[in-house]
Amino acid sequence: MLKTHNCGELRAEQAGQQVTLAGWVNRRRDHGNVVFMDLRDRFGITQVVFGPEAAADVQQVARQARPEYVLQITGEVRPRPEGLHNPDLATGDIEVVAQRAQVLNEAKTPPFYISEEPQVDETLRLRYRYLDLRRQRLQKNLILYHRVAKWIRDYMDEHQFLEIETPIMIKSTPEGARDYVVPSRIHPGKFYALPQSPQQLKQLLMVAGMERYFQLARCFRDEDLRADRQPEFTQLDIEMSFVGEEDVLGLIEGLLTRIVEQITTMKLLYRPFRRLTYQEAMERYGSDKPDLRFEMPLTDIGDLVAGSGFRVFAEAVAAGKRVKAICAQGCAEYTRRQLDELAAVVARFGAKGLATIAVREGELRSTLSKFMSAAELQAIIERLGAKAGDLVLIVADEAKVVTEALGRLRVEMAQRLGLLDDDVLAFACVQQFPLLEWSEEEGRWTAMHHPFTSARDEDWDLLESDPGKVRAKAYDVVCNGYEVGGGSIRIHRREHQERMFRALGISPEQAQSQFGHLLEAFEYGAPPHGGIALGMARLVMLLAKEPNIREVIAFPKSASATDIMTQAPSEISERQLKELHLKLDL
Ligand code: ASP
Repeated sequence: MLKTHNCGELRAEQAGQQVTLAGWVNRRRDHGNVVFMDLRDRFGITQVVFGPEAAADVQQVARQARPEYVLQITGEVRPRPEGLHNPDLATGDIEVVAQRAQVLNEAKTPPFYISEEPQVDETLRLRYRYLDLRRQRLQKNLILYHRVAKWIRDYMDEHQFLEIETPIMIKSTPEGARDYVVPSRIHPGKFYALPQSPQQLKQLLMVAGMERYFQLARCFRDEDLRADRQPEFTQLDIEMSFVGEEDVLGLIEGLLTRIVEQITTMKLLYRPFRRLTYQEAMERYGSDKPDLRFEMPLTDIGDLVAGSGFRVFAEAVAAGKRVKAICAQGCAEYTRRQLDELAAVVARFGAKGLATIAVREGELRSTLSKFMSAAELQAIIERLGAKAGDLVLIVADEAKVVTEALGRLRVEMAQRLGLLDDDVLAFACVQQFPLLEWSEEEGRWTAMHHPFTSARDEDWDLLESDPGKVRAKAYDVVCNGYEVGGGSIRIHRREHQERMFRALGISPEQAQSQFGHLLEAFEYGAPPHGGIALGMARLVMLLAKEPNIREVIAFPKSASATDIMTQAPSEISERQLKELHLKLDL
C-alpha cells in the first residue's frame, strides 16, 4: 500500500506516530511560510502542514500542488494547537506535519470544485461523472447503496432465499414496455431482447422447485423517459412458492423495516405498514401511490351541490361526473395570485376551473357566493371539517380529471404548508388493483401489472363478462408518493394463463409463439407462487433524501437516455453492421 492510514482515521491518540497518507488535494491555503493542505480520500479529509522546517523538496511539492493533484505524504501526527481544532471534521483534532511528499499525479483544473456543493449544471456533472463522484455527497450515496444491497443479501439469506442469476439476453417477451433488442450475428435476422424484468424466468425457477429466489436484477425498458426513470435499472427481484399476498408483503415489510432501522435515523410512520385498497387510494388521495405523510383527503361533495344554483356543479353531478374538495389548513388568506397558481396546477390535468371557499372568522369568502346560499357553503365547510383560517379547494369534472388534479393539488398544498418531512417514511401497501385497464391507444384491454398476475379467486368469473371489474392479486409498496415496488400472486395453471391471454386479445398462436415455454412449464406441476420487485435506486433515493434517482446511481443516463460521458448510444462501423446483417434506414 502507498499509505499506512486513510484520510479519515487519525485521532489525537495517534499523536507522535509517523504515518503515510495518499489522496487528492481538496484545498490548499498558502500562508507564505506555512502551507496547509486538506488531503482527501474516500474515507475523509486530513489536514497536512508544510512548515518552514520542511526540506526544500517537500516545500516544493506544497507550492506546486493544486486542487485534485494526487499526493503521497509521510509525516508526524500532532495535536492541533489550542483553539484550532475543527469539530466538523472527524480528524479535526490533529494534523500531519509533512516530512516527505511526492506528487503521484498532476491534475488539470477541474471544471467544477470538488470541495464544495456548488450548483453545477447536471450535463457538466454527467460529462465529468468521475469528478462528480469524488464529491462527498455522491460518495455517501454510493456507500449507502452498497449497504442497502448488503442488508438485503443478508436478510434474504437468513430467510432461505437463493440468489440466482438469470440471463441478460433473452427472448423478446412483451411485458408492457418496449424491449431493447440485440441483433444476432450467427442467426441472421434474429434478435435477443434485454429483459424488462426476469419475470418469466423467476416463475420458471419456481416450476423448477427453487421455492425462494432473489436477485439484484438489471432490467431494461425502452420507454419514453420520465424524470424519475432510467432506461436500465436494478431491482430487488423476488419470487416465492406456496405463498399468498400477505406472505410476500410480510417479508418485504420485515426487510424494509430492518434496512431503515439499521442504517438510518429516519422515522417509520406506519408500523405495521399501512394497508389500503387501490379504490381507497384513488378515492381518498387521488393517487395509487399516495403520499401518506399527511392526510388532507379528497372529499366527495357531489350530494351537497347536486341541487345547487351553481350550474357547473349541478350539471356535473347530473352527468355522472364528480365534485370533490380538499381542505388546506391555514391558507384562507391566499392572494388572488396564489389562487391563480393553484388553478394552473389543476388545469394541467384538464380541470376547467378551481372553486374556492376561504373560511374566515364569521365570514366565508368564495367564488361560489353569488350562486350558492350561505347554508349550502356551510354544509361543504362542515363536510370538509374546515375551520377559520382554512381554504377549501373544489374541482368538478370527469372522475379521472378530478382524481388526478386534486391528487396533485393535495401534494402541492402539502409542499407549501411544509408537511413533507423527508425524515419521515410513510410506507403503505396498496392492494386489490384492477387486473386489466382499457387502452384507448391499442383498443383492447391490457394488463395493469403484467399478464402473469392472477385474478382474485372470486373475480375470475367476471373476466369475460365485465373485464374492468376484475380485481387482481396484485400489490404495490409505496412510500412518500413513490412506488417503491410492486408484485403479485401469479397464475400457475395453463388454462388460466390462456384465458388471461385471450382477455388481452392475444391469439392462441401468438400465445404459443411468445409464451409457449411458460404455458408448457405450467403443465409439469407448477406450484402456486408469487413475488415482488423493489426498485433499488428509488429506495436508496428515499433513504438518502435525494430529489432524484440519478443522485444514487454511479453512471446514470441523461433524461434523453444518453450517456453524456461516453456518448452512448453511438454509431457502429459498417463492418459491424454487415456482420449483424443490418442495413440502416434513416
Ligand atoms: N416483474 C415485475 C416488475 O418488474 C415485478 C413482479 O411482479 O415481481 O414490475
